[in-house]
Amino acid sequence: MTVPTAPSLYQPTSLDDAVERLAVAGPDAAPIAGATWIMRSPSRGEPFHREYVSLARIEELRRIDDDGATLTIGAAVTHARLAQALAGHPALEALRQAAATSANPSVRRQATVGGNLCARDFAAADLAPALLSLSARVVLAGPAGITTTPLSGFLAGRDNLPPGTVLAHVSVPLAPVVSAHARLTLRRAGDYPVAIVSVAATLDDAGVVESATVAVGSVEPVARLWPELAAAMTGRPLDADEAVRTARELAGAFTPRTSVEADGWYRLQVLPTVVGRAVRALESHGRDRT
Ligand SMILES: Cc1cc2nc3c(=O)[nH]c(=O)nc-3n(C[C@H](O)[C@H](O)[C@H](O)COP(=O)(O)OP(=O)(O)OC[C@H]3O[C@@H](n4cnc5c(N)ncnc54)[C@H](O)[C@@H]3O)c2cc1C
Repeated sequence: MTVPTAPSLYQPTSLDDAVERLAVAGPDAAPIAGATWIMRSPSRGEPFHREYVSLARIEELRRIDDDGATLTIGAAVTHARLAQALAGHPALEALRQAAATSANPSVRRQATVGGNLCARDFAAADLAPALLSLSARVVLAGPAGITTTPLSGFLAGRDNLPPGTVLAHVSVPLAPVVSAHARLTLRRAGDYPVAIVSVAATLDDAGVVESATVAVGSVEPVARLWPELAAAMTGRPLDADEAVRTARELAGAFTPRTSVEADGWYRLQVLPTVVGRAVRALESHGRDRT
């Protein structure tokens, strides 16, 4: 019987060192952050990598910076710390809610923003739709240098990143929006959500939607925007009941996934209800704002 060897851990203190080590090792190595996804690799039938490059000691990845126009969130910031930091940013309520309600308290103290966005095949990531609704961009560090790209494009292409690519930061524009995040779990709060909806909108003084962004997670394999629903909400007052009806009409745009937690048809069936919850929360944030 062959005994599998434990993976080794490399702990750089600079981003450049992490990128170089990952680029040299190629597919034998991978970044590791909170390890909440990696630790469950065997239960998904995935072998561990031979080496993990830890992001935990890289100071710049642990920072949250606010320059008044953009919030820059380091990839190694945990969900718990993010939720705490966003208490002073009412416009980013969708992201605060996502960070504060994902998983359970002990996972939230470990799981990071970068891990949430980079875990392949993790359809139920809460931060992904929240950040999509807020028009976030990701900053990637790789052997060829630094690139910045919209989160939607990153999520769609993340399986084909060159070796050595590390998600370094997420930047979120500090726009005058109201935003909300809603998720439906089957049983307990710690379960993976069946469907997730995040919405952000700008409202005029009369409460009419000037622009909207709607994002959906956990229904398809990768979180994505729902531009048709956003367009239908624009130019009218916020109305949760109307949003539910429109979501029912437009839900055919999704190709839902089936997993051990829920069938695809069920995810699609509950999606309009989750839309209604998100828009109702938005209505209440809009009222608080006036
Ligand atoms: C029981 C349980 C329930 C959970 N429920 C939820 C939930 O409902 N909602 C939710 O959002 N999350 C949930 N999670 C947490 C989920 O695992 C994390 O949100 C996240 O996906 C992993 O973050 P991490 O830092 O632990 O990543 P890790 O496990 O360290 O890494 C995950 C993957 O991302 C890669 N990676 C990590 N950081 C980077 C980076 N900066 N650049 C490039 N690649 C990187 C790693 O190589 C690995 O492939 C749950 C976890 C558990 C254990």
